[in-house]
Amino acid sequence: MEAFAITGGVLIDGTGKPPIEKSIVVVEGSKIKSVGKEGEIALPDGQGAKVIHAEGQTVLPGLIDSHVHIYTDGESSEFYSLPVNNNHLTLAMKSIPRLKRTLEMGITTLRDGGSGWNWLEVALRDAINRGDIPGPRYFATGYHLTVTGGHGYFLPPWLANISVHPEQSTIHCDGPNEWRRAARLNIYNGTDNVKVVASRDIISPGLATAPQATREELKAAIDEAHKMGKRAIAHAQGPEAIMNAIESGADSIVHGFFMDEECADMMAKKNVYLESTNLYVRMIVDRGAGDLPDWMVQKANECWEDRVRNFKMYLEKGIKISLGSDAGVPYIRQGDNARELSMFVQLGMTPMDAIIAATRTAAEAIGIAHKVGTIEEGKIADIVLIDGCPLENIDLLHDEDKIKMVMKEGKVIITRTPAPESK
Ligand SMILES: [Zn+2]
Repeated sequence: MEAFAITGGVLIDGTGKPPIEKSIVVVEGSKIKSVGKEGEIALPDGQGAKVIHAEGQTVLPGLIDSHVHIYTDGESSEFYSLPVNNNHLTLAMKSIPRLKRTLEMGITTLRDGGSGWNWLEVALRDAINRGDIPGPRYFATGYHLTVTGGHGYFLPPWLANISVHPEQSTIHCDGPNEWRRAARLNIYNGTDNVKVVASRDIISPGLATAPQATREELKAAIDEAHKMGKRAIAHAQGPEAIMNAIESGADSIVHGFFMDEECADMMAKKNVYLESTNLYVRMIVDRGAGDLPDWMVQKANECWEDRVRNFKMYLEKGIKISLGSDAGVPYIRQGDNARELSMFVQLGMTPMDAIIAATRTAAEAIGIAHKVGTIEEGKIADIVLIDGCPLENIDLLHDEDKIKMVMKEGKVIITRTPAPESK
């Protein structure tokens, strides 16, 4: 069995406990064998055990992003013409290097928030699990369920083929029976989660906060997910849609834009996770003018102002926030997931809490906290080494040069040493 001792680094274990200076983490096979302070923990004695010196570095659990869309890679205007230029096979091929980059950027677990397109996520997940392609531990969600003309279906009506598996991220369904069937169809095709769309969006035309699916529709799909032991993720913006999703049993709310205090209280009370996706709003504000429609930029501005006003209220209420970068949407490249953590800190979260959002809490949101998300004895050895201290500078977590080593399941995926200098 391969064994490693990671010595001398500052350990932030993801549980929220204070950092441990001069730490030792012993990895044996795919698991963490022991964790503690130098001098208190025995080094592995087996032949060929390797020492990884982490002086000056921070030892962290592999990061976890509970919300991306692998079928896109941050294209802005091109995003809307994807179905004209690609089919699902093309997008699956394009996703392969994106998954590799994501892993090499320290994201060792990834949940897709729904990439549709003939269930390409399922094929990618299985390819990773077989060892055919490199990538994070990956969870598939399949098609978003949306009402006819609802958010997420980006084709105009004259091109929309309302069939069961369109080249889109979304399928249309109306009425509880169709919602139930669509959830079953996703699960039949091998998804790990079910995603429901409860409202429009700042990037879809019309009122972002307009609720779309009814509670009966949402509940029909969510119940189907729960019966099969799957998590239900709800896209929701605006108080009415957010409340509809919570009352229908959603486990996570994506976006939660324009959330009021009543919804925030309810989320905290019912332990519903929030994937707050601030980065894409900020990016549309910063870069959308002249590139994206004016109405979208205007809605993003209103949304960002609302976030600046209310994000601290969500924290005070104790809502569990998991990293959900929405990577893939305009201006967010796959692998840049941890940029969302910089948004968290900018909006008032402490760097330690941002790290917890990307480790322990994200693992809980996906339902895998018993296996990953923290550096503790017996957990799977997903570990990253960061040059410097992310508690002082959260941006280090998405700085490629600073991510010195990524380990997934006890295997070193990448190490980064300084580039040779030219004379
Ligand atoms: Zn999304």
